Amino acid sequence: MIIINAKLISWNNPNSIDTGQAVVLAGSVIKEIGNQTEIVYKYPEEEVLDAKGQYLMPGLICAHTHFYGTFSRGLYIPPPAPADFPEILQKLWWPLDQSLLAEDVKYSSLVCMIDAIKHGTTTLFDHHASPNFIDGSLDVIEEAFLKTGVRGVVCYEVTDRGGMDKSNEGIKENLRMIKKLDTAGSDHLVKATFGMHASLTLSEETLEKCCTLLPTNSGIHIHTAEHWVDEYDSINKSGLRVINRLNKFGILGEKSIFAHGVHLDHAEIELLIDTKTWLSHQPRSNLNNAVGLGDVDSQIRAGLRVCLGNDGFSNAMWDEWRTCYLAHKGWNRDPRRMGANTIVDMAVYNNSALVTQFFGGERIGIIEQGAKADLILVDYEPVTELTVENLPWQIIFGFRDSMVTTTIINGKILMKDRQLTTIDEKEVNSKARELSTEVWQRYAKQF
Ligand SMILES: [Zn+2]
Repeated sequence: MIIINAKLISWNNPNSIDTGQAVVLAGSVIKEIGNQTEIVYKYPEEEVLDAKGQYLMPGLICAHTHFYGTFSRGLYIPPPAPADFPEILQKLWWPLDQSLLAEDVKYSSLVCMIDAIKHGTTTLFDHHASPNFIDGSLDVIEEAFLKTGVRGVVCYEVTDRGGMDKSNEGIKENLRMIKKLDTAGSDHLVKATFGMHASLTLSEETLEKCCTLLPTNSGIHIHTAEHWVDEYDSINKSGLRVINRLNKFGILGEKSIFAHGVHLDHAEIELLIDTKTWLSHQPRSNLNNAVGLGDVDSQIRAGLRVCLGNDGFSNAMWDEWRTCYLAHKGWNRDPRRMGANTIVDMAVYNNSALVTQFFGGERIGIIEQGAKADLILVDYEPVTELTVENLPWQIIFGFRDSMVTTTIINGKILMKDRQLTTIDEKEVNSKARELSTEVWQRYAKQF
């Protein structure tokens, strides 16, 4: 397939915006980029996708999400309202994830993937929990990825909160999935990593077990210091702060993703930098849970590899960009904080490097020859001159996620002119609504 009449935003480093170029896709990759007239002449038989002047850019990436949170939308939480993050876990997330069965896991995933396709998000790192349906839960999510055609990385949140049997079952589920997907071909859309909930729900014994069993080519995906209680719990259990505690078990490193890190101290940040551990930032979630905001822009300047995730909020990632832009200014009472260029460093370059690493070095999140064809068309008509320099601010103030008209992942069109091609949205939503009433009943019974 040849994509013509597009304005190409490459997200190369340095970035480039080009017109008059055509992009040739072959299989799952970008085969060639060149002068449009010459390309069309060279491939006369090839199917043509006419972008009609829209921007063609790499799809968006989400470094940390929870599909299982889908049924929280509209859920009635019995009063009194949770007063802090630990209470939110106990009154919302834990009773909710305990209410999920196989069909719920399937449909909560499909709903999120449809949302992602519609808003141009092409890769998502899911962090899954369903304590009453652990064995096989990651296969259900994998199947949803394969059905919709979205790219993703799965894991199961190991935790001791449901007792040692469930903790062991979570470990098994991670190991089984890592082994299963390890041998999948380079075009397979799904990879697995090892998930853990958070230091505060993990004993020394379980951490020891996880690190002993962790395959050498795998890292972990875990929440860290989202709320200060995680730090003090860690100190009580081990005498160490969270990152030092996890480091004792050898699970830092360039294959690991630590979500949040809001309450990390300088020494912990340094340790993450030294070990090249990824930190994933989720400002919408941090504001919603009122846990504070990490000093992210200075952490990036110090060399920390910070990515951007959504923690289960909408899969419209430019919403996360905008919140990030506004939140840090308000939090610091300084409009000079968190420039849009810093958000691009996180959400584009670091997220792209993260996905590339998880997908065996395949370049993802960039338009260049040989890169994976994860692409979107954006129907944006700038009212001021759009340049490479001001693009990050054009996105913050001008782009809307609804401007994504076409989404391509792994060379396959999943949405064309806002029509989904792989899945029936109305059918999925209708089934999800049906399931949600049962999930809510199981949730309510726990109070
Ligand atoms: Zn999370």
